[in-house]
Amino acid sequence: MPYEAVIGLEIHVQIKTRTKMFTAAPYRYGAAPNTLTDAVVLGLPGTLPVLNYAAIEKCAKLGLMLGCEIAEVCKWDRKNYFYPDSPKNYQLTQNEEPLCVGGKVEIVLPGPSRNVEGDHRWVTLNRIHLEEDPGKLTHEAFETVIDFNRAGVPLAEIVTEPDMSSSTEAVAFLNCLRNMIVYAGISDCDMEKGQLRCDANVSLRPVGTEKLGTRTEMKNLNSISNVKAAIEYEIERQTEVLNGGGIITQETRRWDVESGSSFSLRSKEEAHDYRYFPDPDLMPVQMNRKRIDELEDELPERPLDKQRRYQEALNLPYTLTSVLCVNRELCEFFEDALQTYEAPKQIANYITNDLLRELSAASEHGDSALDVGQCKLTPAHIGILAKIIDEGIISKQIAKEVFTEMFVTGEMPDAIVEKKGLKQSDDTDEIEALCLEAIAGNAQAVGQYKEGNTKALNALKGPVMKATKGKANPAMLDDLLKRLINKV
Ligand code: ADP
Ligand code: MG
Repeated sequence: MPYEAVIGLEIHVQIKTRTKMFTAAPYRYGAAPNTLTDAVVLGLPGTLPVLNYAAIEKCAKLGLMLGCEIAEVCKWDRKNYFYPDSPKNYQLTQNEEPLCVGGKVEIVLPGPSRNVEGDHRWVTLNRIHLEEDPGKLTHEAFETVIDFNRAGVPLAEIVTEPDMSSSTEAVAFLNCLRNMIVYAGISDCDMEKGQLRCDANVSLRPVGTEKLGTRTEMKNLNSISNVKAAIEYEIERQTEVLNGGGIITQETRRWDVESGSSFSLRSKEEAHDYRYFPDPDLMPVQMNRKRIDELEDELPERPLDKQRRYQEALNLPYTLTSVLCVNRELCEFFEDALQTYEAPKQIANYITNDLLRELSAASEHGDSALDVGQCKLTPAHIGILAKIIDEGIISKQIAKEVFTEMFVTGEMPDAIVEKKGLKQSDDTDEIEALCLEAIAGNAQAVGQYKEGNTKALNALKGPVMKATKGKANPAMLDDLLKRLINKV
């Protein structure tokens, strides 16, 4: 029987705040183990949690970005379990009344090729709630070590509806979601640093039926490629079980990167196993409608809305917007450059090709990745460069040299052109003399051109460009050569 997959994701995102969810201890990735804790984090007797309102606001902002309703009131529950990553033996979370309800995320599926935009669709969210991150356990050969630095970091859990049907959709969802979260400044979403973590729920059902099958939940998916591999593995495994007449057991499975397979960790716990109950130490949070409206006004344009606008209003091709719009800083740089000179396509080209190439080359030489905010180039540099090309002051060929120079020195393009004498030459006499020389020196090319091979002209342009160090005005050169050849 043919089956179709049903996939729902649970995504944990660490919210960037100065201090933790319920105490003033700070958090920094990579700090020496157990140096960023305090009595509250360690669950010492007599301590009480104090709510970090900044985390609430950032999570509300995330919810607004993802089209959720923000609750009037949200509450805190204890999720009780015994495990060494939680010194209190419970996790503070929002079970009954989460901060954000519903929501939907627009996703783009891969196109038929890299240069062609794929279909768009929406993935429905169930909710987003806030909780505290547990500590980090590292299992070594004969022991497990615990680092409580991460314990208590504000964590938003985004829960989708079982609304996806392939690993491709899940990957597209995660990429689009990540762009939105980074755009909104909620988190940097670096999966290697655990800032974004994903559990995948997978079930199968006969094609054409509605009723959901029994699902399994895959944990420990710490990269997008792991999410993809784990979903594909699980679809295949469940298909084999069902085709063999077996039944799927509801369970939690752990993905093992090394073997590229997952194994059963435990039978899936039910909500009542956690004995959720309202936390007696924390008041429900009454949300302020006016403040929510302010947060909504602060939201950046969503990446896919921006991409649509660039394509429709600025007439940029998908090949450029797909590179530009994954990075909010790059878009801001682009829009600032347009303030200097309004040539969207040319400027987008310089940013997505030349600037990104120089940035990645510079990062390879240095030790850290350079980004647009750190380099010496400003939007005005690129705006002016585009302008002096359009004005015929320099050719595109010369512009390449100017680009590298201004990237390294931070000098303005017009100053570089002046200093190095790169101005395009409109000196007709000089160019004419060089053209005549070239024509006299290459009878073969002249003959070919006369027989209709227009490309043969390039062989004549070469020496002229060389003699003028690339400064001959290309349009003028083209014109002159044709006229002079016809006279020969
Ligand atoms: P929990 O995992 O904490 O028990 P839920 O039951 O609400 O929480 O479901 C968690 C995730 O599992 C959600 O993303 C949901 O979409 C997904 N899910 C639920 N049922 C199925 C199913 N039958 N097949 C695939 N995904 C499912
Ligand atoms: Mg779950």
